[in-house]
Amino acid sequence: MGRSSHSRRGFLHIGAIGIGGIAGCIGNTNSDTDQSQDYNDTDGGTSSEGSESEDESKATGPQEIPDNGAIVFVYDDGPIEDYTQALPAHQAFDAPATTGIVTEWIGREDFQGNDWMDISHLEELVDAGWEICSHTVDHTAVGTFEVVEDVTAADTRVYPDEIRHGYWEPRRLEITDGSQAVTRTVRGWDEDHKGRYIDLDEPLGKSFAAGETVTRYPEEEMWKAIVESKQKLENLGFQIDTFLAPYDNFDEYSLEFAKKHYEGVANANHGSRINEPDEFDPFQTKRDYFIEFTTPEAVKEDLDIIADKGALGVIGAHTFKDEVTEERIYETLEWIEDREIDVVTLREACQYQ
Ligand SMILES: [Zn+2]
Repeated sequence: MGRSSHSRRGFLHIGAIGIGGIAGCIGNTNSDTDQSQDYNDTDGGTSSEGSESEDESKATGPQEIPDNGAIVFVYDDGPIEDYTQALPAHQAFDAPATTGIVTEWIGREDFQGNDWMDISHLEELVDAGWEICSHTVDHTAVGTFEVVEDVTAADTRVYPDEIRHGYWEPRRLEITDGSQAVTRTVRGWDEDHKGRYIDLDEPLGKSFAAGETVTRYPEEEMWKAIVESKQKLENLGFQIDTFLAPYDNFDEYSLEFAKKHYEGVANANHGSRINEPDEFDPFQTKRDYFIEFTTPEAVKEDLDIIADKGALGVIGAHTFKDEVTEERIYETLEWIEDREIDVVTLREACQYQ
């Protein structure tokens, strides 16, 4: 009721990329690892060894995209298959990649049905020319989600178009329409006849209109997701310059934080693999998947365009997925080699102007 009768005010419009991000996220609902409620045994027993990764290649100064284009592979979440399947394929072509690491998942075993790379695996990747990038501390959604039902001052329940912010409790959540903001503690999420909702610890105390209101994490939670994750990886001895947003959920709000601490974001705009050579902005990077949710034909078509225009392609995959095999990664690298497209890390691509 009333959910589309309200016009969107400027507040939601500043989130133009946010809306795109949300749309991409919906298309991607099951593509990323769902956050389980169980995330207590942090750090998986690994400790702070390994600070000998000083020899990472740091790109020096602005560079041009090569005439035949360049490709960045950005793998998600840090599953052991990045090491067992992606690394051998990339080594066969002497091609680097970038992998987004969730710091609390490092070294976990049998977590969400999978094993996750430990510090020694990450060090081997770096030795092979790979880049480690931050994918938050616990796979937090760092963007905003639009509230799609009106809420009154007495309500303790909000209905955002995605309820990912409800996965973590008791975490503080902000509800804001740009002119007023209320922060409450998350008490879980569920679904009723109106749709999926997030429950809060106390009534909002203010009313908010659907279509003009969003849920988002307040500053201290954003700091933890975006800055603390970077610091934890740096404390393990890794050079961290770039960020991969969980659930492909990134918008103007996330950008405010990311811009201060990183040189680029792998998936600021989900939904295309091609970044035009004259338009590339490392904080507006377009990325899309190259094995899951697509076909070899579509990928080869994009590679033709990238080579033809001298564009930057940014492609991703979840190597724990059954269809993301060493063979499929290898053949993609063959298509790239056939077109004489360079393979670079995201850090290197951030130097392209
Ligand atoms: Zn992820």
